Amino acid sequence: MSKQKSDSKEITAEEKEIISSEQKIYEYDEAYQEKYLKAKPWDKDDTHFKKVYISTLAAMKITDHAIRGGKFEIAGYLMGFAREGVFYVLDAVELPIVGSDSRVEIAGEMGEKATNYLMDYLDLMERVGRGHKYVGWYHSHPGFGCWLSGIDCNTQKYMQMVNKTWFALVVDPYRTKSNRKIDFGCFRMYSNEKTARLNQAFDSIPLNRANEFGVHQNKYYRMPHYYFQSKFESNIVKLIYKNYWVDSLCANALLVNEDFYQEKVEDVSAKLANYDVKSKANAIKGEKANEVHQKKLDDIANLNNQAIVNYQNELIKGMIFK
Ligand SMILES: [Zn+2]
Repeated sequence: MSKQKSDSKEITAEEKEIISSEQKIYEYDEAYQEKYLKAKPWDKDDTHFKKVYISTLAAMKITDHAIRGGKFEIAGYLMGFAREGVFYVLDAVELPIVGSDSRVEIAGEMGEKATNYLMDYLDLMERVGRGHKYVGWYHSHPGFGCWLSGIDCNTQKYMQMVNKTWFALVVDPYRTKSNRKIDFGCFRMYSNEKTARLNQAFDSIPLNRANEFGVHQNKYYRMPHYYFQSKFESNIVKLIYKNYWVDSLCANALLVNEDFYQEKVEDVSAKLANYDVKSKANAIKGEKANEVHQKKLDDIANLNNQAIVNYQNELIKGMIFK
């Protein structure tokens, strides 16, 4: 079944055919799924899953859920299917649970309530002819970027053991709002100790999370993700825009993200102070020091750019609608 794998950035003919066909994307291919699960290509290749396609509607639902959650972590499940090392996400199902501002668990005492809700949802979807299954879970990291914490790693590891075609999606609602670009990260755990770890680039991590990030960052890898929109969806998306474009035009990113900006400025200044002490003590030298220094400068530049773009937007809106 396995065809020659191409560069993960490149869209293959099969992927193109799937995401552009209403029939291929919405009709669950049970026979293929059985064959796929039996063949277990992930046993031979620990990084068998290389990329994720997310429907625009699912992306909107996840982002909306995370923004409504604000500083509290929210979670949900992802519906769709996996094929030839690619995940296709067609829908997102909110879980009726809310975590704290630093963690959310989908296992444990909230587990039973969540499981019953998910089973009911699956039943209802099947009744309307949508046979897709859950292929992963999502949760939010409000303001601290997309990566997996220790608890996230344990959750994903367990889920991956039970369900082989499973991945984790993390969304940062604050960075999404301030960058005006959906901030997602899609991850799979390595299951084999011997798999060569990929050198992956991550966004800036706040100082108070840096240790936890460092301890776990080599246990999982990031898969690039892309969005697609079916014809059926584009009608819904048009309807949503028609009703809400005024809201998004009126929203002031500087005001809605006020606390996030404040935290970012404090984090950057704490990092700089920390860096200064360290460099004086000669803890980091030469190339490594330059790299660390560059990362700090990038953080400051990003923060400035966001503030400038948001000010410009407000000025332009002010001039047009005066
Ligand atoms: Zn997390």
